[in-house]
Amino acid sequence: MNNHLLIIGGGAVGLTSARALLLAGYRVTLIERGTTGREASWAGGGIMSPLCSWDYKEAVTRLTQRSMGMFDQAMNELHTSTGIDPEYQRSGMLLIPPFQDALATQWCAEHQVAFRHVALNDQLPGMQGEGLLLPEIGQVRNPRLLAALRRSVEKLGGKILEQHEALRFDIKGGQISALHTSQGVLQADAYLVASGAWSRTLLGEHALQLDVKPMRGQILLFKFDSPPFSNILLQDSLYMIPRRDGHVLVGSTLEDVGFDKATTSTGYNHLLQRAYALFPAWRNQTPVQHWAGLRPASPDNIPTIGRHPQLTNLYANCGHFRYGVTMSLACAELLLNEIENKPQPLPVDEYRWRE
Ligand SMILES: Cc1cc2nc3c(=O)[nH]c(=O)nc-3n(C[C@H](O)[C@H](O)[C@H](O)COP(=O)(O)OP(=O)(O)OC[C@H]3O[C@@H](n4cnc5c(N)ncnc54)[C@H](O)[C@@H]3O)c2cc1C
Repeated sequence: MNNHLLIIGGGAVGLTSARALLLAGYRVTLIERGTTGREASWAGGGIMSPLCSWDYKEAVTRLTQRSMGMFDQAMNELHTSTGIDPEYQRSGMLLIPPFQDALATQWCAEHQVAFRHVALNDQLPGMQGEGLLLPEIGQVRNPRLLAALRRSVEKLGGKILEQHEALRFDIKGGQISALHTSQGVLQADAYLVASGAWSRTLLGEHALQLDVKPMRGQILLFKFDSPPFSNILLQDSLYMIPRRDGHVLVGSTLEDVGFDKATTSTGYNHLLQRAYALFPAWRNQTPVQHWAGLRPASPDNIPTIGRHPQLTNLYANCGHFRYGVTMSLACAELLLNEIENKPQPLPVDEYRWRE
């Protein structure tokens, strides 16, 4: 058994992996270049589902559905054990036209996902037409989830080293023998790359076919006295996520601009105009915050989870693209099974690290 694991990356994926490993009895050290939970996982919207699940391959659906089924219990346990409320709630997601009704309802029926058509005016006074409500879809509040995960990892005995940047690996006998960091050399029995959009860069020649690159997303934040609606709203690629305290996130852009995390006036205006088009009454509202994050983009949104094809004590859990928070619980489960050579609960071939 690889008793001591060194995890590189303190986002939702690294922290959730750390928690699963600690609960299974491993010793865990997690290193983070900056502060934990400040990159993509912090920037995300926290919708616990793909936007339009019917647009994705079954390999994505398998992971998201398994993970979504684990959230009720996991968030409850996390809240109770840490005292930090990740504000997980099944707020439902309401699709506003235009959307592919026949495709969506067929997909939902085939995948046992609850849905019903609703008069938009019932949910959003003044709005005409019919929407499609997926009532079971949930959300979390990312910064709170990350704070809870971090506290849980520490309470379970995990060691978190911030301001430690992983630089390069030493290899000996087909294994990683050490990791050079900005603060010195670290050693463990096994190493996990959970470095989000930076995973491929860190691995260099050892990345092999691992295909992960940054994809920027920008979000606007509005604040109301109370939530202006209760469901997550989705219209085309635009979503609005109502938080309990009246904040509403409006997202997002999808921009292939490399490792550039800057917000732009183009992104701001695009999101603002789309929000105003849906809710003309918001024209006297100005966003209270605007941010950007770098999603770890992968082909078809399929992450890589598992052992390196050549280096026997190196693992990856990265490339979750648009749905890393949603997928985090199932991916941690798959990773643990891979480390322990245990049977998997679902087909995993598409998540393997390719040579
Ligand atoms: C605008 C936007 C909206 C999103 N909305 C959703 C949503 O609604 N639902 C959903 O499920 N997902 C959403 N996502 C996607 C989700 O946020 C990501 O898939 C997820 O956060 C990836 O988690 P991660 O831990 O792999 O990456 P990250 O959170 O980026 O964490 C990686 C960490 O690794 C660290 N690191 C990198 N290199 C090194 C190194 N060399 N040494 C040490 N540390 C290193 C980084 O500093 C970082 O903290 C959204 C993303 C964005 C940007």
